[in-house]
Amino acid sequence: MNICVVGTGYVGLVTGAVFADLGNDVVCVDNQAEKIDALRAGRMPLYEPGLEEMVARNVADRRLAFTTDLGPAVKRSVIVFLTVGTPSRDDGRTDLSAVEAVARGIAQAMERYTVVVNKSTVPVGTGDFVRDVIARHQRVPVAFDVVSNPEFLREGSAIEDTLRPDRIVIGAPTQQVAMTLLELYAPLERPMIITDVPSAEMIKYASNAFLSTKISFINAIANMCELAGADITQVMKGMGLDPRIGPAFLNAGLGYGGSCFPKDTDSLVQTAASLGYDFALLKTVVEINRERAGHFVEMIEKALGPLDNRVIAVLGLAFKPNTDDIREAKSVEVIRTLLAAGAAVRAYDPVATANARATLPASIVYCDSSYDAATGADGLALVTEWNEFKFLDLERLRSVMRRPVVFDGRNLWEPERMRRLGFEYHSIGRKPVLPA
Ligand code: NAD
Repeated sequence: MNICVVGTGYVGLVTGAVFADLGNDVVCVDNQAEKIDALRAGRMPLYEPGLEEMVARNVADRRLAFTTDLGPAVKRSVIVFLTVGTPSRDDGRTDLSAVEAVARGIAQAMERYTVVVNKSTVPVGTGDFVRDVIARHQRVPVAFDVVSNPEFLREGSAIEDTLRPDRIVIGAPTQQVAMTLLELYAPLERPMIITDVPSAEMIKYASNAFLSTKISFINAIANMCELAGADITQVMKGMGLDPRIGPAFLNAGLGYGGSCFPKDTDSLVQTAASLGYDFALLKTVVEINRERAGHFVEMIEKALGPLDNRVIAVLGLAFKPNTDDIREAKSVEVIRTLLAAGAAVRAYDPVATANARATLPASIVYCDSSYDAATGADGLALVTEWNEFKFLDLERLRSVMRRPVVFDGRNLWEPERMRRLGFEYHSIGRKPVLPA
């Protein structure tokens, strides 16, 4: 099938590569020329395990191409996917300007029946909006349909998630249109659910809001554990074994970040308000999440005293492991708060340093390893739970620090082990321990 994917970011590039791998003829479009140039030269504009190989294979087999030119890409395609960004505006509502611009471009290029599929996360009602934009801007009045096919991939395991999604949601105006998407996804042999367009749009937001709620809930319980002297890791285990609750997304820490949960929860609160519903529960979920970074830095200040001229090593900058994405990363909030309190920051991340450099203040010292970051530090703050941090030589880490004080924002290490190794160790929802 001839397919066009507009917006070559995390979702678009992975979607395009996977559909090409399934034997389709795919053109990925982006309006950032440097991104397209890099892809044509075989360089990935983002880090995602397995992506580079998959892109290279399909480019070599001529099933995958990249362009900035939307018109010809639309004209040759039966299905056009929209995978552009839908960031938050200042008021929390979703900025649909990229979706609108692309819908207009598709309308102007369309010369025959086309299925336009919205894969970007968009508020309920956007399907009608896209329909309307296309209808108003068509040069040739041909029939078209708008489908909602929300994306559930997770950065860091995006290829795997796209090849083996838990479910494929297809919100289509008719069964016949849904069949076109069913056919495309059939080789994956995964559960598919066919709904109307607004329900599909809601499924995406409701899912992200529910997962965010689980995270904020367990963080609120962690706050209580800290006050009551209980241990959140034991509480989590005890809760998670109940199959009605489950252990996923029940890890206390610094809260959710990234390019999806924060903006999607804000957006759902706003959409609810515009429909006349006060989503008080979700507002609280957002509020609890906002307090996490401040709470963590308070923990650091309480242990180290005033942070003026203190050196803090920060391990992990990406918003979660296995990605270089630092959008809405907790590291950004933590580091900004540390700097505002007068601390000096030495940071290390396995892959996100380049993105951090472009976003964070220039005063940060970026290091080549965890040991380098920890050298001379008065405290070490673990912000992203990269697997390699689990396997650090902690004795070596302690030996290079000025003061062996660790603040574990993700409960990656065991308190008793840290105590034995001679650290003062503070973590989330657990009692602090002093060196043996
Ligand atoms: P991204 O920012 O990585 O990529 C978006 C791409 O769209 C960029 O390359 C940008 O240059 C391009 N673009 C913007 N305007 C354009 C235009 N007018 N014409 C052509 N290209 C244009 O975003 P992303 O993370 O891939 O997310 C895309 C959508 O998918 C969002 O709605 C997001 O909420 C949703 N989503 C993301 C994830 C994720 O994990 N990243 C998961 C599920 C859903």
